[in-house]
Amino acid sequence: MHIRKQRLLTPGPTPLYPPALHAMMAADIHHRTEDFRKVYRSTLADLKEVMGTAHDVLMFAASGTGAMDAAVSNLFSRGDKAIVCVAGKFGERWAEIAKAYGLDATVLSAPYGEVVAPERVAAALEAEPATRGVFVQASETSTGAAHDVRTMGSAVAKTGAIFVVDAITGLGTMPLDIDGWGLDVTIGGSQKAFMIPPGLAFMSISPKAWGFADSATLPHYYFNLKKEKKSGDAGESSWTPSTALILALAEALKYVKQLGMPHLIENAQLLARATRAAVEKLGLELFAPHSPGSSVTAVKAPPGLDSGVIVKEFRSRFGAVIANGQGSMKGQIFRIAHLGYFDFADLFAVIAELEIILRANGFPVEFGTGVAAVENLYSEVAVTPQAVHA
Ligand SMILES: *Cc1c(COP(=O)(O)O)cnc(C)c1O
Repeated sequence: MHIRKQRLLTPGPTPLYPPALHAMMAADIHHRTEDFRKVYRSTLADLKEVMGTAHDVLMFAASGTGAMDAAVSNLFSRGDKAIVCVAGKFGERWAEIAKAYGLDATVLSAPYGEVVAPERVAAALEAEPATRGVFVQASETSTGAAHDVRTMGSAVAKTGAIFVVDAITGLGTMPLDIDGWGLDVTIGGSQKAFMIPPGLAFMSISPKAWGFADSATLPHYYFNLKKEKKSGDAGESSWTPSTALILALAEALKYVKQLGMPHLIENAQLLARATRAAVEKLGLELFAPHSPGSSVTAVKAPPGLDSGVIVKEFRSRFGAVIANGQGSMKGQIFRIAHLGYFDFADLFAVIAELEIILRANGFPVEFGTGVAAVENLYSEVAVTPQAVHA
């Protein structure tokens, strides 16, 4: 018998930043007090700074989907024409929300593993000048692919539509110039690159999008952007906030600011690059080879092996919780996450474990082949690291 530490290595929830976790213990605080208002104000300001936007940023007690729902219910009216990019399970979620609220949505879909080309968005906008909203995932976590939101944003900016971006795993894994690229609504979630548990959703809102809030007629109550903005300006949230998570977020944002958002992004990008190199050396195929993002790398299981077996063995042999595919991708792919509090040491282990699992399942693997690819990249880029300590 040997020790197996449990390690959470999924693309949400992600590994927790320990000081953030400890900060949650100070949650014996009332939210309508000056003490908490101070925390709330500075957390919103730090969030805005880390997101790199001058737009308003709001926070909700919800998982990321709550903010997606809020964006539709607060900014649109029944029958509004919309363009929804669907390249995976989260794109399908946008389509479902649009449908639930009665938007007249045109779906631009791409096969799982591919992305919707920005030219298709531009063409669809041209074909339907009355379009009010364009919806997309910056990073489609279910496939590991990333959309070109920069080019899409410039196409949308020329029209009367707003660009609504689910950046829940885009934030902290890819550069996103929210204001410069015309990202009118940018959505984030606490359990991704922000290194804290699930339960908080964030949203930036451009002046153009605020204009939509004035004319929108869809019903909403709990998620009320205008009310939340007014409350936020007074240092409070409209309803009882998730005080424990906000204390955690305050601590995590301090760390991200110390590290610098560009370094958090670079960290994910390096780990993603090293992962791609390692799995290719092991003879495995990437699921999204053409537009790989850096939040997560989706890898095809080798022929004849269910990816569920790989996921299960990570858990049973090493206590490592990694992600299977979602929906029809279940059994076909497994996903290695990079967003947030992941480091090279995590990746050395994950790739070594993968080698052991592949060999145990009859695939000829020379131990160290994949790990060497990670070591090589580490040596190339990070031999003298500017390590930032907790
Ligand atoms: C995690 C995630 C979400 C939000 O899912 P919740 O379960 O509501 O937090 C939405 N979009 C993407 C791309 C995600 O990765």
